[in-house]
This record gives sequence, structure tokens and C-alpha cells, in this order.
Amino acid sequence: MRLVLGNATILQGEELEPTEGFLVIRDGLVEEVGEGKGPRGWVDLKRGIVSPTFTNAHVHLGDSVGQDYGAYMSIEKRVGIGGLKGRLLEEGRARVPAGMRESMRAMLRCGTGAFGDFREGGLEGVRLLHRAMDPRLEGVVLGRPDGSGVEELLAECDGIGLRTPRAYPRGEMERIVAAVKGRKKLLAVHAAEVRDDVDEALGLRPDFLVHLTNAWRESLEKVARAGVPVVLCPRANAMLGVGLPEIPRLLERTLVALGTDNVMVNSPNMLREAEFAFKLARGMGRDPTLDGRLILAAATINGRKVLGLRSNAIEEGNEASFIVFRRGRYLYDPVLAVIHRYDVGDIRCIVRGGDVSGGSLHV
Ligand SMILES: [Zn+2]
Repeated sequence: MRLVLGNATILQGEELEPTEGFLVIRDGLVEEVGEGKGPRGWVDLKRGIVSPTFTNAHVHLGDSVGQDYGAYMSIEKRVGIGGLKGRLLEEGRARVPAGMRESMRAMLRCGTGAFGDFREGGLEGVRLLHRAMDPRLEGVVLGRPDGSGVEELLAECDGIGLRTPRAYPRGEMERIVAAVKGRKKLLAVHAAEVRDDVDEALGLRPDFLVHLTNAWRESLEKVARAGVPVVLCPRANAMLGVGLPEIPRLLERTLVALGTDNVMVNSPNMLREAEFAFKLARGMGRDPTLDGRLILAAATINGRKVLGLRSNAIEEGNEASFIVFRRGRYLYDPVLAVIHRYDVGDIRCIVRGGDVSGGSLHV
């Protein structure tokens, strides 16, 4: 199947460089990106902006059924051991799959193409998410060996997402790490969300860390030296009242992706996450030159790198997974349009492979 889109502003390649031109897609992959008029038979995008789809690199879909439940309580009381979240998932177990599906539809509406979920509840929890999975999304499922053997868990998911670096006794943790590495799956850890436990987290040789909200600067340097990517969730951190990650410092030092974290705490809307992260980074760094493309990359293509998915940077040979936004008449900067002006209503459609969803290419 071949599709040619013309008269578009394409945020091209890893640099997300705005290119006035055309895009050819064949069999789900980008065949060509070029300037000027495209080959014959193109669909006129009327100067629409084409951006890679968002990647929600860290989410907990399981608690979608408790949105803002306990919103005025501490992080420990809400999502800690024995907290509200645990009770909610236990008592409302029957509603969990429907909640997950609703959040997946919400992610699709906001232009998300892929996500990474920290799935609680052992093997049963992983199976629940697989059964609820929306085929229009790519889901990377990181389970926890709670009540399940780690080997049988890993046979059915993409890796392990640890609650903290000390979630299990030392010997057990070593067995978990060895099993994940042996199977070449992903190991991810929540780190320094409330206190700095970066040393312990790095000791596990993780593929990525999540949060770094309360990491000392020397810990951030260690993360950078170890070359470990990070997933930041600033809106969830702010909502939980636990502080904010040092976004500018991390952007300079390591690969940064963004996620929306618990649906109980925060909406799974990457347009909002990108806007919040961008303004926070400029405000915290007192830096009006901070490039919007760094944040757009963190919200789109970087998450796929972190999760081990094929790139959707819009260039030849890559996955054709992108959003088409309507062109606003008075826009100067297409990158900033995506990360701080556009809303869900500005999305004309989402293309994944050859499939168009959430709207139409034709106006
Ligand atoms: Zn989390």
C-alpha cells in the first residue's frame, strides 16, 4: 500500500527539522521525505504539520479506575505499599480492564502511538493488560514478579518495572536482574522519586530509570556517566507534591523521554506533558533559548528508543507513525505549535503504518 502526502510541514528526522514538502509511505514504512511537490497522486495536507506520534514512556494503566482518588493525600498513602491504590486494584479488580481500555482510547485521541506500562499484579496483571490491549497502540509491558516466578513472568512480557531499587530482598533482586539480562529483556526502575536512591538503582544495571525527581546533582552526573536513559514524569511529580526533576540538566546529559505515570494521579495526555515539561525547563533554567525540539523529541522519538521500539523519526526506512495537525493560520513555529499551542481538537488524524485513525487525511 502506497500513500503520498503533499503540501505539508514535516518535522523531519531525529532533528525534527521543519521541511516544507511531501512524504511517501509504503507498506507501513516511510519511503521518502522530500522538499517541494511530491510524486503524482498526492493527498493535499493544506500545509498541515506532520509530527512523529507521541510515546508515553511511563504509565500505570491499571489504576485508571481511580482518577484523582485521594488526590489530597501523600504519595505514600496513595500509591505506597498498603495505600489507596492497592486497595482500589484489589476491590475494583473487575473494573480494571475497562479502565485500561478507556485510557488507551484517551492516549490514541491525543496522538500517542506507543507506551511503556509498569504492570503490577504479577503474571495475572500482565495477562490482564495483554487482553485489554488496543491493537492500534504498541504497548511495552513491564511486569513485576509479585506472586509469580520471574521466568514464567518474563515469558509473557517485555521486562520488569521495579517499584524501587529495594523492592525485593537482595538475593531475590539478584535473581530477577540475572533473569532479565539472560533473556535480553528490559529492566526499568523508579528512582529518586521521593529520596535519592540512584546508587542502588544504577547497581541493578537498568535499561532506564524513571523520575529522578529528588536526585542530588552528583547522582545525575552518575546517571549521565553510566549512559542510562531517563523517563521523566513532571506533571505526576507536581501533582503528587514531591518536587520536580531537573529537566534542563538532564536534557544536556542523557537521553530523556517523557511519561505521564499513574492514571490515578495524572491524565495520559502527552500534549499536556510536553507543554508542561517545556515551560518548566525554560522557567527552571531561566533559559528562553531552550529548544522546543528537545522536548518534542523527548515526547515522541526518544521514548521509542528507551522502550526498544523501531524508530518513528520521519525519515526513510523508519516506521510510519505520525500525527497530522491542522495548520493554524498565524503560526510561526511548527514545533512550538505542537508542544505548546495545539490541543486534541487540532489533530486531523493519526497514521500508523498505512492505517489512518482518529480522523481523515481528506478535508
Ligand atoms: Zn511509575
